[in-house]
Amino acid sequence: MKFLVTGGAGFIGSHLSDLLLQQGHQVVALDNLSTGRVDNIAHVRNNPNFQLVVGSILDERLVDKYAERCDGIFHLAAAVGVELIVKKPLESLWTNIRGSEVVLEMANRYQKKVMITSTSEIYGKNTNSCLKEDEDRILGSPLKSRWSYSTSKAVDEILAYTYWKEKGLPTFIVRLFNTVGPRQTGHYGMVIPRFVQQALKGEPITVYGNGKQSRCFLYVGDAVRAMSALMDLPTSAGEAFNLGSQEEVSILQLAQMVIELTGSRSEIRFVPYSEAYEAGFEDMFRRVPDISKAGSFVGFKPTKTLKEILQSVIAYYRKEPSLVAAGR
Ligand code: UDP
Repeated sequence: MKFLVTGGAGFIGSHLSDLLLQQGHQVVALDNLSTGRVDNIAHVRNNPNFQLVVGSILDERLVDKYAERCDGIFHLAAAVGVELIVKKPLESLWTNIRGSEVVLEMANRYQKKVMITSTSEIYGKNTNSCLKEDEDRILGSPLKSRWSYSTSKAVDEILAYTYWKEKGLPTFIVRLFNTVGPRQTGHYGMVIPRFVQQALKGEPITVYGNGKQSRCFLYVGDAVRAMSALMDLPTSAGEAFNLGSQEEVSILQLAQMVIELTGSRSEIRFVPYSEAYEAGFEDMFRRVPDISKAGSFVGFKPTKTLKEILQSVIAYYRKEPSLVAAGR
């Protein structure tokens, strides 16, 4: 089969491309290299089954061309990272809403199954212990970047679902909870690459707020295996799936783990949210997914502990000191 992977040079897109190639498929990665990096796919550049197309999902002619020629579309191209969204809200909204609109329109034109990548941000401030897919969304003001981002991804979901309901286009949605691993950049705010880089440089570890907020971190390899399995499964059409881990850790504990595993002498520095992001910034206190639905559809189950994930990220940065020096 031949798959179009938008955002294929990005962190998750490049891991998905690797998996699809291993499975014997052909991959066209469409990426504008804004947050994606050629280095993420350097190891497959000479693979005859892989093609990188540098371009934008907002370019309708380009998306049309590759949508026609593929058997299915994984749409991962998006503005991601809380820091990026806060700093460039308009560009982020445009990429996320208009970009998904173009991809869905072209998928519909050629009747290709499409995966839309959403996020746990859509649940907003809902702190229930196990967020199920039909859980309420609890959001703050749409004038705050974080909640407008949440809404932009919800619009993507609505579009995907409506294409299925009204036009019968096979679409499915994955809601990614914090997904991490090698190749994720710390440049747009993501906590694990930042903490690991800070620890390796011996710089203070910047814990935002009081560090009591918690997250669950999923290994990227587990996320992309589920994506591929859901694409293969006909009954995934018209459905949304949480993909995440259930191993909850506070951000302060995470900082301590990183210090221990790197053997760093870094100290922990608490940074107020207003300084880290912007005045009035609201964080989520906790975010734990219910993952039973993906479990029952495709046997999804996280395979790596947080400690193993951190070890893999630390090993990655130790091998790539230039990334650490550049803060990427
Ligand atoms: N965070 C932090 N220090 C950093 C970057 C992030 O304490 O240098 C915190 C952030 O405020 C949040 C958590 O780590 O509470 C996870 O942040 P990330 O941006 O990775 O993901 P998200 O906020 O989308 O869960």
